[in-house]
Amino acid sequence: MSGNTTPFTALKGDQPRKLAALRKASTQWQEADDVFSRLARRMTTSLSLEALVAIFADELAQVISYDHLMYRNTVGSQEFVYASGMGGQHRCDFRLTLEGVNYGGLTLTRRNRFSEEELEGVEHLLAVAICPIRNACQYTAVQQAAHTDALTNIPNKRALDLALTKGCYLSNRHGDDYTLILCDLDNFKIVNDTHGHVVGDFFLQAVAKALAKATRNSDSLYRFGGEEFAVILPHTEVTEARLVADRIREFIGQILVNCGDTNVTTTASAGVAMRQKGETPLEWLARADDALYHAKDQGRNCTRVADFINSKA
Ligand code: GH3
Ligand code: MG
Ligand code: MG
Repeated sequence: MSGNTTPFTALKGDQPRKLAALRKASTQWQEADDVFSRLARRMTTSLSLEALVAIFADELAQVISYDHLMYRNTVGSQEFVYASGMGGQHRCDFRLTLEGVNYGGLTLTRRNRFSEEELEGVEHLLAVAICPIRNACQYTAVQQAAHTDALTNIPNKRALDLALTKGCYLSNRHGDDYTLILCDLDNFKIVNDTHGHVVGDFFLQAVAKALAKATRNSDSLYRFGGEEFAVILPHTEVTEARLVADRIREFIGQILVNCGDTNVTTTASAGVAMRQKGETPLEWLARADDALYHAKDQGRNCTRVADFINSKA
């Protein structure tokens, strides 16, 4: 307001009393040491589903003894399982639902029976935990979506960048071999131009499946460009990775997409680079990309391996 130089306005009516009550309640809430209040406070400290379930398991154990606790849920497209302890033939199951939506199931087991009071106690604590768990599930699902390619359902470029950084960190730390394969479909524009994008899209989905078939579970797959795919192979040196790249190309070459009177096929080129000591994620990616460029330049439908750069070796 113009002309008013007072920084604070005076409190009105019963405002001082209400604010004093608020201050008192806040102090009591922060200091309360019962399981219910402590759980409520701790459940606001994280958006990690794993951290939240661990907090829940920890606080629950303060009032109800159990031998084994398991929380299980499908979050986005992935199965999330948290388990602690083991054993016990008596079990109780709780379904976590909020506004009609399922947020997973909790199972407790132990050697002796659970009492009615104990089951009620678990429900009181679940009532505190359900909203933070719902938020963590939603957050995890959004994060997953942000790192997943919508067409092929495999991780995208953002996920590849993170994985390359992690691969560099782990190979620095443990000295393990990590190898990157980049794979690009040959003349794919012609497939699209001749048969249309729907067929092209179908082909890209089949390529993602072929990559999964041609690699091990410990390898990770990415679609990092239109018709460009990447595979990171942990604990794998370059000779072995080259064989994997050839197997990937072979599997891609076997894909047939039926378009009425023709079967559409394609080939792929691959570039392989084993991570060198001291190399940044970008430098590693650039060497694999150079190798891919050579494969294209030397006639396509082949694999080329990146040279080591002397100063880094
Ligand atoms: P090269 O052998 O040199 O890699 O030739 P190319 O035709 O595969 O490469 P280019 O970069 O010229 O074209 C890539 C094509 O990939 C262009 C586009 O038609 C196709 N493409 C990229 N993203 C998608 C997609 O999401 N769906 C479909 N159907 N096609 C895509
Ligand atoms: Mg291409
Ligand atoms: Mg390309």
